[in-house]
Amino acid sequence: MDSDKPGKALMDCFLTTDRHQRIRMMMAGFASLVMLCCAAIMNLLAQAGLMRIDWTLWWTLATGTGFIATLVLIRSGCTRRLHDPALTQLQIRYALVCNAFAYFLLGPARGIALIVLSLILMFGVFGTSPRQMMVNIVFALLVFGLALMNVLARQEPGYVPELELAYAGMVLLLLAVSAFVSVRLHAIRQRLSRQKQDLTHALQRIHHLAEHDDLTGLVNRRRMAQLMETALQRTAPSLLLALLDIDHFKRINDTHGHAVGDQVLCAFARAVQGSLRSSDVVARWGGEEFVLMLRDTDSADAAQLLERVRNAVAALTVPAPGELIRLTVSIGWAAQSSGTTPAEAIENTLERADQALYHAKAQGRNQIVSYECASACHPRPADAAPGMQCFSASQPIPE
Ligand code: GH3
Ligand code: MG
Ligand code: MG
Repeated sequence: MDSDKPGKALMDCFLTTDRHQRIRMMMAGFASLVMLCCAAIMNLLAQAGLMRIDWTLWWTLATGTGFIATLVLIRSGCTRRLHDPALTQLQIRYALVCNAFAYFLLGPARGIALIVLSLILMFGVFGTSPRQMMVNIVFALLVFGLALMNVLARQEPGYVPELELAYAGMVLLLLAVSAFVSVRLHAIRQRLSRQKQDLTHALQRIHHLAEHDDLTGLVNRRRMAQLMETALQRTAPSLLLALLDIDHFKRINDTHGHAVGDQVLCAFARAVQGSLRSSDVVARWGGEEFVLMLRDTDSADAAQLLERVRNAVAALTVPAPGELIRLTVSIGWAAQSSGTTPAEAIENTLERADQALYHAKAQGRNQIVSYECASACHPRPADAAPGMQCFSASQPIPE
């Protein structure tokens, strides 16, 4: 493992640790390596007497300098602000110029330059837009046109016009195919990007649906269970849970129909949410029952807040054909038991809140009852809000 470290340090130093810069450096490094191989082949051909050694050396020097300069510029970071920070287009056009020169210099071996041209165009089709590709193709036509004309003007021994024509035809073919591939790849890239966007939106929607109630838009039972567990880990001693149940909701359904009942549920959800603080969470627990979670809240604050909720619901009017529907809510709540280790399970706290709710219903509805420990409830706590009732587990449920 340790033996890898000097290598990694060297790579970090050369390529940098910035992800984007690394990719740019690697691409430019790879292009430089390809050009280095071409230079080696050129020199081999020069050694074999197929082209002039002095011209080959000048070509190698010019090509090498260009690519090293590109690497230095990218590595220095001064290209970061440019539209093309990897200098891809510059590299492609510079390689096209070098290759056109090679075509001119290579003598009878100039067919090799066409293979190199296809390599350069291959680099271009992936990272360039069709517009940039068109510019490159026009540029390639220009520089290769000049090279072809120069070859024509020189008329070296062994020059075969038909062969030159065939090369010119191959250049045109290569450029046309590259343009076609570039346009197709661009269309595929765009389609993939659109599909990715659609998928992201669909995932967000699925995520939202999995955690929210369709009708009221409130957090659903599954999500609330997660939120309560998380809150239990963080703020167990000051966690309060309340169960809210709309009174005689079945009558609303029976009198006005299910659709109006749905509107009432939505109006109820809005009214409750409008009475809460930003840290409180209300969830639809099922049917016309809701769970409210209050964090970092003492009993006195909870009592005031729940009274505010009860009043907001009592003040609510929902228009229905022929009348304005009014409703009330019964609330039972319990504080998380702080004395136990481990902390009291959420289900137990909810069970106690449910018992308190049962009392609220049994005592006539439209009221708030808290399940307090017997010691706290006898007598009724001084900080309880007006109309607030407490009961302990030992108290009988009123008939
Ligand atoms: P209580 O005061 O004792 O709570 O009486 P209640 O009528 O509110 O309670 P009950 O449990 O008898 O009735 C609840 C009703 O809520 C029955 C059910 O049809 C209705 N309900 C449950 N879910 C929905 C819903 O999504 N939309 C509508 N419109 N009604 C619903
Ligand atoms: Mg009800
Ligand atoms: Mg109910």
